Amino acid sequence: MNYNVAIIGAGPAGIFAALEITKLKPEWKVVLIEKGQKIENRVCLLREGYEKCPNCKKCGLLCGWGGAGAFSDGKLTLTPDVGGHLADYMPREHVEELIDYSDKLYLKFGATEEVFGTDMKIFRELEREAALAELKLVHSPVRHLGTERSLDVLKSMQDYLNERITIINNVSAQNLIVENGEVKGMTLDNGETVRAEYTIIAPGREGADWLTKEFAQNKIGMVNNAVDVGVRVELPAPVFEPLTDKLYESKLIYHSPTFGDEVRTFCMNPNGEVVQENYNGIATVNGHSYAEKTTNNTNFALLVSEKFTEPFKEPIQYGQHIASLANMLGGGILVQRFGDLLDGRRSTPERIKSSIITPTLTCATPGDLSLVIPYRQMTSIIEMLYALDKVCPGTASRYTLLYGIEVKFYSARVKLTNELETEGVKNLFTIGDGAGVTRGLIQASASGVYVARTICAR
Ligand SMILES: Cc1cc2nc3c(=O)[nH]c(=O)nc-3n(C[C@H](O)[C@H](O)[C@H](O)COP(=O)(O)OP(=O)(O)OC[C@H]3O[C@@H](n4cnc5c(N)ncnc54)[C@H](O)[C@@H]3O)c2cc1C
Repeated sequence: MNYNVAIIGAGPAGIFAALEITKLKPEWKVVLIEKGQKIENRVCLLREGYEKCPNCKKCGLLCGWGGAGAFSDGKLTLTPDVGGHLADYMPREHVEELIDYSDKLYLKFGATEEVFGTDMKIFRELEREAALAELKLVHSPVRHLGTERSLDVLKSMQDYLNERITIINNVSAQNLIVENGEVKGMTLDNGETVRAEYTIIAPGREGADWLTKEFAQNKIGMVNNAVDVGVRVELPAPVFEPLTDKLYESKLIYHSPTFGDEVRTFCMNPNGEVVQENYNGIATVNGHSYAEKTTNNTNFALLVSEKFTEPFKEPIQYGQHIASLANMLGGGILVQRFGDLLDGRRSTPERIKSSIITPTLTCATPGDLSLVIPYRQMTSIIEMLYALDKVCPGTASRYTLLYGIEVKFYSARVKLTNELETEGVKNLFTIGDGAGVTRGLIQASASGVYVARTICAR
């Protein structure tokens, strides 16, 4: 089939590209190819009550309409400072405009009205408290959809686009067709070929491996990106209320005294639960919270950014290797009490039971994270927990739970022009988390809007 635009991946980046194209060029023929299910058919067996992640071939949590964000907490972080690097490609004001525009689109499709963290007086007070603990608090207003609302919004977008473009589910893009330095479409794993004037690749972190291989084959340049490795922290919700009651989600950055590495909080879920993900058969940890269903715990990630130098070029494999070590020891995710880690002993089911906090990820195996996480990252995480303890006393309690490991693969940073067009291949645009350009819902969405406008203006 011949199309004006072919889009790979129905995560927020791909969906928002499609929404903007249908607005600017309603007469254009657009195809959106998604390897996972429609939103209403997406299932994550772990979420349905399975004790262990069955490592589905296509992870229901990450693949399908809505992408990795579908079952997420739906926190839209409304600032260029968090969730991506779009400001590296255009002026900051332009990113702000794109974020604002994308946010309004979420509202149009049914997002919640309330935005947390807009009161600057409260922010300044907390910023001061954080600074006294050598932590930098980043101003990042958040619109919180909650998982149920997030699914409703995505369903509305699917229904809207279904009437305007061709959506192909359960089929993967296989190989790009590049002729004389220009993209012409792609082959699919069902044997069909899609031809298009423009191709937008938005395969998310899930498809980052595929993208890396495909681009290597087409000699498209990639730049080494950092990999973030760390743990998910779970503690009683009241411990973190000094922050979560006022800001909902707070982004805190710390430079560990021992190594000077940057450690940051990521994806904070007040009264939420810890969840398991599956990246190409490797179990990693994440978290989210529901608007209606709450727990007594709050969770967030502590991530250490590792930038690698020559000759090392495989940050994804590095992250996967550490995650698979945890899998090797625990048969999946490991959980350890902070006190046990400091005492140099593993946690056991009995020790976990005799705590003031009950783990929300029940399938995690009590174990010893010091056998998994390198000394450098572990030291930085411990130092950050002590710094956080000054802002929210109780954070460094011996009962605080650490799940491992959480890893964010951002490695495939594609060499792109300021229009997010892939260097060396005309009319091929690469956006979202898979390109290493973004790290969150709103910037992924904004990247889709941005390339759609560029393409429609050509
Ligand atoms: C549990 C969880 C909670 C999160 N919570 C938040 C949050 O609260 N706030 C926030 O800002 N961010 C959150 N994130 C991150 C956010 O989901 C991502 O940043 C965002 O989804 C990235 O969008 P994307 O479109 O680039 O990629 P994705 O959302 O990953 O979508 C990519 C899509 O492409 C498809 N695909 C991949 N390869 C192919 C192929 N070859 N052919 C066809 N299709 C393909 C995949 O199946 C997938 O559906 C969370 C992520 C997870 C996993």
